[in-house]
Amino acid sequence: MGFRKVSWNGKRVTVAGLGISGIPAARVLHGLGAVVTVVNDGDDERSRAQAEELRAEGITVRLGDGDTLPEATELVVTTPGWRPDKPLFAAAAEAGVEVWGDVELAWRLRDTPSGRTPAPWLAVTGTNGKTTTVRMLASILEAAGLRTAAVGNIGVSLLDAVLGDETYDVLAVELSSYQLHWAPSVRAHSAAVLNLAPDHLDWHGSMEAYAADKGRIYEGNTVACVYNVADKATEDLVREADVEEGCRAIGFTLGPPGPSQLGVVEDILVDRAFVENRQKQAQELADVADVQPPAPHNIANALAAAALARAFGVEPKAVRDGLRAFRPDPHRIELVEEIEGVVYVDDSKATNTHAAEASLAAYDPIVWIAGGLAKGAAFDEIVAKSAKRLRGVVLIGADRALIREALARHAPEVPVVDLDRTDTGAMSEAVQEAARLARPGDTVLLAPACASMDMFTNYIKRGEAFADAVRALASTGRV
Ligand code: ADP
Repeated sequence: MGFRKVSWNGKRVTVAGLGISGIPAARVLHGLGAVVTVVNDGDDERSRAQAEELRAEGITVRLGDGDTLPEATELVVTTPGWRPDKPLFAAAAEAGVEVWGDVELAWRLRDTPSGRTPAPWLAVTGTNGKTTTVRMLASILEAAGLRTAAVGNIGVSLLDAVLGDETYDVLAVELSSYQLHWAPSVRAHSAAVLNLAPDHLDWHGSMEAYAADKGRIYEGNTVACVYNVADKATEDLVREADVEEGCRAIGFTLGPPGPSQLGVVEDILVDRAFVENRQKQAQELADVADVQPPAPHNIANALAAAALARAFGVEPKAVRDGLRAFRPDPHRIELVEEIEGVVYVDDSKATNTHAAEASLAAYDPIVWIAGGLAKGAAFDEIVAKSAKRLRGVVLIGADRALIREALARHAPEVPVVDLDRTDTGAMSEAVQEAARLARPGDTVLLAPACASMDMFTNYIKRGEAFADAVRALASTGRV
């Protein structure tokens, strides 16, 4: 039975956390007739202003205490970012009260009052590549003439997609490991886990717990569980998942595909999964050159998107058209300029080593601009794997010594410029130094492998600073 039809009237719901998911959740629940209390740790000026607005609408807000469960709570709806070890959740467990995240709430509310069949979800998770893959998928679904949207961390929020007036045939849904943790009953039509590298372990507690949360995306899939052949951990998650009868495990690989896989043969993306005779037959989907940018990890994203679309019954032609129509978001391996035979690429979104390693694998030779906040990461592996392709390295940011030490261990012959400054203007100097190191045919790649907050507001500002410096270099020959 649809949960929209369950009476919310008078139900006491605690919303944990003011913020981008908490505020809309509180409003929706209040609108359904629930008695909503929002609890929030912070009691700063911004929270007070937000609280005032909600109170004016009839919602109770308690600031400065996000740990005590309000009296008589029947359900907690939490901001996905709240750590599972927070006392509020222990109190909820003690009281036998369920905890839902924003995704669970959207899932439960997706039955429309008109009784229309809700749009199935094609879901994507992974350490890196989620946004790109979901947008590629939406582009393919659109090319197939389906009414769809890319939802999750980008564009439309899940709640809006589910409750809005727009009707969808299918949704391309990005899910983070946090969201999956708090989404026990979500059942996607088909889902993909792109890759699994250690990330957010402080939140989840361990790699096992992180993997288990990601693995939830496969629970109850009906048609396909899509995994990465090169990342065994993703396949293990499929094996452990409890799926509907007849649901298939579909691999994607950058090599030639086996039966029930999508892969690449002579620069062509091919499908050996959704064809009549997968032992003997393969279906051409698109050319590698149809994928923008055609970097290896991005081909993998395209294959995952294609697998989900094919699982939904999309024709091969729409895969090609959709991939061709897709444009990457800014600061994700974005070509900024070519100056005197040197290409300048902005991958400011590479905020961890796993992402940066992927973009380093896509170019040769490279002048690498790296550094920022390391978030506890080690750099030996990324440096050892990329050493052969490095023309030089320019280091910026607070934790640059960690990268410098890894370079000394694994690439002692590579020239390194260590910029001893963390002010915003340092990016101009970094680009200037990189230009000095580069030769025609090289790529200057900003792929910091670190977070940006030591020097910039966010990765977007960091990427913009890089692009500005490159454009200044192009127009004047100097930054
Ligand atoms: P997410 O939504 O998971 O953060 P994005 O699509 O925004 O992923 O990409 C984030 C970063 O990860 C970018 O720097 C990009 O170059 C890198 N990346 C994208 N896809 C992959 C992949 N399949 N494997 C490794 N790194 C990737």
